[in-house]
Amino acid sequence: MTRARSAQLYSNAQKLIPGGVNSPARAWDSVGGDPLFLKKASGSRIWDVDDNELIDYVCSWGPMILGHAHPAVIDAAVEATRSGTSFGAPTELEVEMARRVIDAVPSIEVIRFVSSGTEATMSALRLARARTGRSKILKFNGGYHGHEDALLVEAGSGLANQGIASSAGVHPEYAASTLVAEFNDVDSVRLLLQANTGEVAAVIVEPIAGNMGVVTPEPGFLEELRELTREHGVLLIFDEVISGFRVSLGGAQAVYGVMPDITCLGKIVGGGFPVGAYGASAEIMSEVAPLGPMYQAGTLSGNPVAMAAGIATIDELSKPGVYEGLRATTDKLADGLIGVFDASGVQAAVNRVCGLLTVFFTGNPVFDMRTASATDREAFGAFFHGMVDNGVYLPPSQFEAWFVSTAHTDADIEQTLDAVKKSLPA
Ligand SMILES: *Cc1c(COP(=O)(O)O)cnc(C)c1O
Repeated sequence: MTRARSAQLYSNAQKLIPGGVNSPARAWDSVGGDPLFLKKASGSRIWDVDDNELIDYVCSWGPMILGHAHPAVIDAAVEATRSGTSFGAPTELEVEMARRVIDAVPSIEVIRFVSSGTEATMSALRLARARTGRSKILKFNGGYHGHEDALLVEAGSGLANQGIASSAGVHPEYAASTLVAEFNDVDSVRLLLQANTGEVAAVIVEPIAGNMGVVTPEPGFLEELRELTREHGVLLIFDEVISGFRVSLGGAQAVYGVMPDITCLGKIVGGGFPVGAYGASAEIMSEVAPLGPMYQAGTLSGNPVAMAAGIATIDELSKPGVYEGLRATTDKLADGLIGVFDASGVQAAVNRVCGLLTVFFTGNPVFDMRTASATDREAFGAFFHGMVDNGVYLPPSQFEAWFVSTAHTDADIEQTLDAVKKSLPA
């Protein structure tokens, strides 16, 4: 396996782009080594610029739930492109797309499309502040919600790796207005809400945490969060940028039966194009301009090519049996991993939901950021490189989810487990 062309491009890129990448999670800082530069992808497979073929469990960090270059999505996007790529005026595609998302996600009555997950959460916070007239926000340790100032506190994933509690350049007053509780610990939320009575606009949570690695909500956690926020007049925001359209068509709220006040979407909703969205009841959304006083706008929002890809993606996901299949594939992989680790005496916790899993190198259960941090990151780095050398592309970090798509086959899983066996000696 040569990587000469990737190495050359990385060296050039580092002179032109900070760290050679346009998003930090793409660099291999936490596992060491030079990132692969990719040139094409199809189904469950990616190819780098040196023509190495790998099974992909990054899947663009979630959007490619149907696998890469799905024909229905590509056809829809190409057809839309031929009619013009942006108008800055309303289109029928936006209405069709809004109808589909609103039909799928139970708590959303009215939706606004934006161009990224960050924009969705940023706008959701503004909406919560507009609605309540309060300014503080409560988030969870290890929860990542994009790179908006108020949310770059104890933000998991890329930041956790670098040991940065928050980012440089964040307005200190924004950071100070953010309270941080522990995931799966409703008492930590209760104490903070009591100490800040009447000041907290919203609690924002990934209902299934995906940015400390995959961590599922313990029974009752989301229900109690719902009750507690209602008691305190605090809006509950579900950041379903990862879980939306992944664990079911209606996201985590449909799976757990807990309804947030505001939902944020991203990743899958754009079918591989830059789309985010936030939605809520018609009453809450009536705050948003031009209907209400909260301003939020976007030149490329509701972009027709992206809407066409999103519609095609949701239509594919709406076909019978899709999520049953995705869940079965995820289970096969997770159970297979546990089997290999057990047989070789490797201590690992494998957390999973439909379409997502994380292998944590630890003998203990992982249920929040503190337990996620107590994992053997050096072991993960060695494992990661072993997997890439054996043709499997994983997220280059202990604190990320592996993304499984509907294009991953049983043969892909077998090949992945073979690669695991070969990687364990490392
Ligand atoms: C990826 C992510 C975001 C940010 O989305 P971008 O499109 O990268 O801005 C927000 N919230 C969660 C849960 C995410 O995983």
